[in-house]
Amino acid sequence: MRNKVIAGNWKMNHSPIDTRNFFGKFNDLVKENNHEIILCVPYIDVAAALESTENTNIKIGTQNLNHEVAGALTGDVSVKMLEDIGIKYSVIGHSERRQYHNETDDFVNLKIKAAFDHDIVPILCVGETLYERELGIAKEKIIIQIRKDLEGLPANFARKIIIAYEPIWAIGTGKTASKEDANEACKLIREEIRKMYGNDVAEEVRVLYGGSVKPTNAQELFGMSDIDGGLVGGASLEPDSFAQIANFDKFSMNIGEMI
Ligand code: PEP
Repeated sequence: MRNKVIAGNWKMNHSPIDTRNFFGKFNDLVKENNHEIILCVPYIDVAAALESTENTNIKIGTQNLNHEVAGALTGDVSVKMLEDIGIKYSVIGHSERRQYHNETDDFVNLKIKAAFDHDIVPILCVGETLYERELGIAKEKIIIQIRKDLEGLPANFARKIIIAYEPIWAIGTGKTASKEDANEACKLIREEIRKMYGNDVAEEVRVLYGGSVKPTNAQELFGMSDIDGGLVGGASLEPDSFAQIANFDKFSMNIGEMI
């Protein structure tokens, strides 16, 4: 049985003060939670987040890393620096980085391997644009990304990776993939992993859905056979909404009150 992962991506939001305030409330709301809860915060918030979550069940991750250990790379933060301060997770290949920072699959592949070499679990993001979906090539796009991003990654690392299926048209738009479509895409990813690495690895890998996950849709999405949790952007910014998502299986929610 795969443990669910509920990961938040704050993107470029929240200061260190906001971070302390967030965890001041959030920690208590999820203290009984048995899922893997991860908050991927901006670099500037990492120290405050690590301090605020010491001795809790909450893990802190980053939203990117540079695969080089050190060097003349102005403005970047290296994988080794993150390892040294105890970071255990990082989002890699988010569509916003692919789009606005020209991150290619080759680059994503280097980052994934470097992350594992430094004891950091990548949360790899893949997914199609609206244009690709309308052209009917969404599946091909996802398969190509998986093949290229994981090329040459040994099975002992592949089994630990977290992959987020994030249809780009659903990110930050309020549009969510139907639970059936999201499940089908997550299943497709697992089947591709099966072809590359065999049954054991495919059954271990956690595949998340991301794209306008909210307290009102988390339960139905995360209840699907191949969806092992979510990568949550906007709804991870407030302690109450992110806690409701993390605790999706604890409450029967009054949907009317939450809309
Ligand atoms: C994301 O940032 O990865 C994301 C899924 O954002 P949102 O939940 O806001 O759509």
